[in-house]
Amino acid sequence: MTAMEGSMPRKSLCLLSFSFVLLIAHASHAGRAPQNFLPDELSQCRRQAPVTANVPPNGAPDPDPAKGEFSNGFFHVEEVAPGFFYATDGTFQSAFVVSRRGIIVIDAPPMVGFNALDPAASVSIVDVIYSVPETQGLPIRRLIYSHSHLDHIGQASKIVEAFPNVQIIAQRETARKINRGTGMFGPFLPNSGTVPPPSPTRTFLRSTSVRLGEKQLDLSYRGEIHDPGNIFIHAPREGVLMLVDVLFPGSSQFTELNVAVDLPLFVDAFDQILRFDFDVFIGGHNNRLGTRADVTEGRLYVQDMLENARRALLDQTPGAIFGILPQNQLVAAAIFSDEQACDCANRTLDPTRTPSGTDWTNRLTGADFLTVTHCFSLVEALRIDPSF
Ligand SMILES: [Zn+2]
Repeated sequence: MTAMEGSMPRKSLCLLSFSFVLLIAHASHAGRAPQNFLPDELSQCRRQAPVTANVPPNGAPDPDPAKGEFSNGFFHVEEVAPGFFYATDGTFQSAFVVSRRGIIVIDAPPMVGFNALDPAASVSIVDVIYSVPETQGLPIRRLIYSHSHLDHIGQASKIVEAFPNVQIIAQRETARKINRGTGMFGPFLPNSGTVPPPSPTRTFLRSTSVRLGEKQLDLSYRGEIHDPGNIFIHAPREGVLMLVDVLFPGSSQFTELNVAVDLPLFVDAFDQILRFDFDVFIGGHNNRLGTRADVTEGRLYVQDMLENARRALLDQTPGAIFGILPQNQLVAAAIFSDEQACDCANRTLDPTRTPSGTDWTNRLTGADFLTVTHCFSLVEALRIDPSF
């Protein structure tokens, strides 16, 4: 591996940070102030696109707890299609389907039921599900894991404690990750269970259907995208599609495209989503449900960044940066990638320069702050991933 090929984005950032720590430690030991070895022009890029913490109308919470629109104060449960409910604390989303024979639950995020203002008054995901009259007297018989991440399934043990015979369904990769836990699990997120998510009792490779009474959910796996085992969950009769940690309607993604593990598949996921028949999209985060238009818009945002990452790669040459740090080519490579990511972000956030002409800062919450991190992932993937 050459220095230019570098490593994965987060590792590059870690290496960069670690190297700075070493430089500072060395300078302190020598009794000298650390010197900034970068020329001024390499520190300019990040100042070009101001961070505004803007919340555009398109990204506004709906329902808005500040306006008293939540069904239960610190959490909200809503029937989005006949018998199909979603539950949220405003940041995380889970869902459940109510049939004549019982309930199918999708995900158990620790934060759903957490009361940030009065933690002692928090309730469990089970309490959240049974807060609506439609679930009364019905058992939870199925639990589906959207993927393995604990911020989405960290409360699963509470469902199993209440309903020990519940069938737990997940893609094989999700089961593999849960089963190889090393015992370091801790309830690091508020309101988590005290034990790791229980192992799935039913796994599948590519697709399966989960049936209960008159209800059916179709699960399919189309590659890692965000995480190994990350599945599409489709309710064809209700017109609802759930895919967690890919698109947050009205919002930019979390850092580095939600720390996606496979960037080409992540980019392609928007086309995959749009091939499904649905009216309601549940993305797993944020305080808003999505529509087909939200997915189309999210696709456009990612396509803009991808094209701008490509242009940044084509327009910039390593130039002097590798001469500045001849003894530390890894740091030079990381700085070079950072600069290209920054160039990509500045193009994306400028409506006169980005291919779609969209003013993303005033369209997607967090775009002004997070676009540079997404661009970093795309720049690195374009450089080294042969499947792009
Ligand atoms: Zn995740």
